[in-house]
Amino acid sequence: MAKQPKYVYFFGGKKAEGKAEMKALLGGKGANLAEMVNIGLPVPAGFTITTEVCTYYYENKKKYPKQLQADVLAAMKKVEAVMGAKFGDPQNPLLVSVRSGARASMPGMMDTILNLGLNDVTVEGLIKKTNNPRFAYDSYRRFVQMYGDVVLGLKPVDKHDEDPFEVILHKKKEKHGFKLDTELTAEHLKELVAEFKAAIKEHTGNEFPNDPMEQLWGAIGAVFGSWMNERAIVYRKLNDIPASWGTAVNVQSMVFGNMGEDSGTGVAFTRDAASGENVFYGEYLFNAQGEDVVAGTRTPHPISELAKENPKIYKELDKIRKILEKHYKDMMDIEFTIQQGKLWMLQCRVGKRTGFAAVKMAVDMVKEKLIEKEEAIRRIEPNQLNQLLRPIFDINEKRKAIDEGRLLAKGLNAGPGAASGRIALSAQDAEEMAAQGDPVILVRIETSPEDIKGMNASEGILTARGGMTSHAALVARQMGKVCVAGCGSLKINYKEGKIEVEGKDIVLKEGDYISIDGSTGEVIAGKIETKPSEVIQVLIDKTLSPKESSIYQTYESLMKWADSFRRLRIRTNADQPDQALNAIAFGAEGIGLCRTEHMFFGGDRILSVRKMIVSDTLEDRKAALAELLPLQREDFYGIFKAMKGYPVTIRTLDPPLHEFLPHSEREIRELAISLNIPEEKLVAKINSLHEFNPMLGFRGCRLGTLYPEITEMQARAIIEAACDVAAEGIKVKPEIMIPLVSDLNEFKLQEAIVRRVADEVFKEKGRKVSYLVGTMIELPRACVTADQIAKGAEFFSFGTNDLTQTTFGLSRDDSGKFLPMYVQEEILPTDPFEAIDRSGVGELMKIGTQKGRSTRPDLKVGICGEHGGEPSSVEFCHLLGLNYVSCSPFRVPIARLAAARAVVSQNNTVKKSVKKTAAKKKK
Ligand code: PEP
Ligand code: MG
Repeated sequence: MAKQPKYVYFFGGKKAEGKAEMKALLGGKGANLAEMVNIGLPVPAGFTITTEVCTYYYENKKKYPKQLQADVLAAMKKVEAVMGAKFGDPQNPLLVSVRSGARASMPGMMDTILNLGLNDVTVEGLIKKTNNPRFAYDSYRRFVQMYGDVVLGLKPVDKHDEDPFEVILHKKKEKHGFKLDTELTAEHLKELVAEFKAAIKEHTGNEFPNDPMEQLWGAIGAVFGSWMNERAIVYRKLNDIPASWGTAVNVQSMVFGNMGEDSGTGVAFTRDAASGENVFYGEYLFNAQGEDVVAGTRTPHPISELAKENPKIYKELDKIRKILEKHYKDMMDIEFTIQQGKLWMLQCRVGKRTGFAAVKMAVDMVKEKLIEKEEAIRRIEPNQLNQLLRPIFDINEKRKAIDEGRLLAKGLNAGPGAASGRIALSAQDAEEMAAQGDPVILVRIETSPEDIKGMNASEGILTARGGMTSHAALVARQMGKVCVAGCGSLKINYKEGKIEVEGKDIVLKEGDYISIDGSTGEVIAGKIETKPSEVIQVLIDKTLSPKESSIYQTYESLMKWADSFRRLRIRTNADQPDQALNAIAFGAEGIGLCRTEHMFFGGDRILSVRKMIVSDTLEDRKAALAELLPLQREDFYGIFKAMKGYPVTIRTLDPPLHEFLPHSEREIRELAISLNIPEEKLVAKINSLHEFNPMLGFRGCRLGTLYPEITEMQARAIIEAACDVAAEGIKVKPEIMIPLVSDLNEFKLQEAIVRRVADEVFKEKGRKVSYLVGTMIELPRACVTADQIAKGAEFFSFGTNDLTQTTFGLSRDDSGKFLPMYVQEEILPTDPFEAIDRSGVGELMKIGTQKGRSTRPDLKVGICGEHGGEPSSVEFCHLLGLNYVSCSPFRVPIARLAAARAVVSQNNTVKKSVKKTAAKKKK
């Protein structure tokens, strides 16, 4: 016969039947209660009914396994023996709480019943035991109310319904002219118990159950039942918790913190959950119940005061704090109660923490030899580093702003950090306002390359349109600016200089203050103070020395450890020497993408670029390109010098040309004058360049195929700059990258130009530098024919922005309109422009890598799409065996950590499977 499963686990006294590892069976709360007993902490005795019973209950028409009743009775006997009181005893009654406890924490989603076991007889026993009739009747009336609400279904469902018990309570206070519940006497509370019971009879037609055992089974059923309430179902869905896990039920002896001035209750963290400091952090209240601490009706005292108020209990708690940390090797969140001078632990679990605290605690714990470096790496979500790298809002000010109803809208969290400033509705205004010393937020429907200078002058960028790889998002990230993109509910009116918000009665004008949180996508009206990042002050601004910043030192330790684990190399996407220098300070090991066109708007260059575009003849085009040559050479020279021998991948011209053309009448007129051509002719030329689908049009290597002289000029600028830098004794490693290749022939044409020009330059300069010619892989066809392309290309770099766009057939600039809905409705698990879609785009990357390396086994393969700085995508690139990821400078530390975590979690999986195989062999 199959062995009967064990459905009930006792805990209490010195030994528990469960332990911490049994979370799946006992739920988080039950497993930790058992563990606390096992490590000798004072825990009120009780028992846990397993999650398997919950599963059984739902699979068997809400019936329990046969043996459960006997098991519960037996466990209750053990509890009685340890606690020295009896359930239902008229003289010395034991009261219990009945609570849910799932494998994952689901705060407040399920039901709880306290003070269970009270009736008209046992209440007298409680009075005798405590000599406190008021306390006894208060407990009794709370119990009847809770039981009536939760188990007997009197809790109002609709927000307009009233809780019948609250109505009765209110009437009672009114009758006696009382304001507070505490003014009610024992006699009043006794009356309330009777009135509550009458209300139950009236609503349900049944008497309130006086038999404690009947009460207990009612409560157990209610807790299991709450697993399927609407709140819990929604929460599970949001947090990926499967319904099949079920909840456990914990039945535990009650202890009371409201039994007089020698009693109390509190909640604490073993370290400060906000700052990560190794200090005991928490709050307590004397003569109070848990809900008084949480509800905010009385102001609790900081735990440090307990050292003065009750040194004995404080010492005991502090000892428990140390035992818990040593045992769990983590920061714990605890709940405790002091009943008539005796301390009881009611709960412990791994504490939630800010990103800031997560980093500090993990690093400190390694230094305290509590955990290994590998564990520290595993504990920190890479994006949590943003809290160290970016300005953040003062948390209280932000909370206040939201409480005041100033939250306007939510967009995509495209560039993390917090920024507050005056609204500028054009790039030019942004520059002017910033020049006057005001912080500026540039608010645009969408941004374009023309806005670069205004974006640079702003603290943050907010757009109504565009997705995670829109121009605004990727340029903002590269510049290290805060950015909220695709905030569709903003109605931006450039003409009238105002912004309206859909569904809100509010109008913001240019010059008004606005605040954006690029980590959450929140847009808030008005000003909110921000706090600068110390890491940035040390690394980038150089206004703080490393010695002065313990936050920086913590960051530095973590990064060193991450580097010792990771296999992936980390490069950066940078177009200018200052961005490259920032990236090096953040630990970048090369440039993975330099978009040459991003420099085209600097200084007067745009005029030469425009001349080149509107040229009718080869001669004219060459003349315009000749103007650009020295400018580009100067850019590349600066970048090579800044990168000091690290590889620098420079991409030849990629975007559709019309992006560089003038749009306003004034600009067109100015260009016509400087080109010395009639305005109508220029307008006609601009119109002829119009494309229905520019992203799929005349762009990428197609530009260099039709106009080889463009590639020629760019190759010359790159190689000349490289030779000049080499002449100064500085190492250079240029890698020239051809964009949007779909066929080997396209690549070969461009490669031939580059190599020819390089040879010419080497001859002219009398010096050679080694360089590579490779390609972006950003079209599905390129992935599928990668074995062919690798015959020519010396390296691959996945352009996952375009690859996502072309794989999904989804415009990266327009996706902001509907992709958020796709994610919300779970049509797609995440925005594929943010995290690599492993099964589609990822599969193509796999094919591309394998095919490429089948031709060229040592082919260097990287990624330079925006995904290169997104942690789950970095992990995917590690698993694919790529050589490097390239991301915006401010995401370099995040990518370093993500790359290390990929190794650590892979090691873990390998270790686990080795263990499993060994165990199997033993069998
Ligand atoms: C890409 O497509 O992923 C890429 C890096 O190029 P861009 O974003 O400039 O098109
Ligand atoms: Mg691209």
